[in-house]
Amino acid sequence: MQASRRAFFAIRPSAGTPAVRPPWALAEAAFLEKCTRCAACLDACPTHLLVKGGGGFPVADFTPGQAPEGCTFCGDCRRACHDGALQQVDGQPAWSLRAVFGETCLAARNVVCRTCGEACEVGAISFPPRLGGVARPQLVADACSGCGACLADCPTQAIRVLPDSSHSIATQGAA
Ligand code: SF4
Ligand code: SF4
Ligand code: SF4
Repeated sequence: MQASRRAFFAIRPSAGTPAVRPPWALAEAAFLEKCTRCAACLDACPTHLLVKGGGGFPVADFTPGQAPEGCTFCGDCRRACHDGALQQVDGQPAWSLRAVFGETCLAARNVVCRTCGEACEVGAISFPPRLGGVARPQLVADACSGCGACLADCPTQAIRVLPDSSHSIATQGAA
């Protein structure tokens, strides 16, 4: 993996942004208190999304090539955790991540591409027509689970999975 690619996907803890904990993780302070760094969740994850992060605590690693399927929300990590660091709470989603389209998106450069839309099984990426321009991916935020499955096939690695408050770069702005 090239250093530049790692830097672009700043969600990786080594890049200095907050770590993305496994799905169903407690709030950060409580998580750090409960997690014993036993790595049982890493071993249980069938997609290999979970890796050791800073201090040996588990993180979700959305670096392209790490886990092409992303998170399937199978729950194996949660069931493997016997220390209470990963807990399902009724009515709460596994996490609040969402796909974000970056400025290298081909459609943002007027090149037709719908690869991410085809990869998203829940239809969370739409391509509204644009007068005089190529349709760009637009997230249906309520439908996006932050699974990361759309990242793997993007030819320009333009997609990241970030906390819900982040904004799309490529799909904003003038037509
Ligand atoms: S829910 Fe399943 S796929 Fe997702 S991180 Fe946990 S073990 Fe891996
Ligand atoms: S299984 Fe639980 S305690 Fe062990 S590393 Fe994963 S989150 Fe931490
Ligand atoms: S992160 Fe998952 S649900 Fe969200 S747009 Fe990508 S493939 Fe669809």
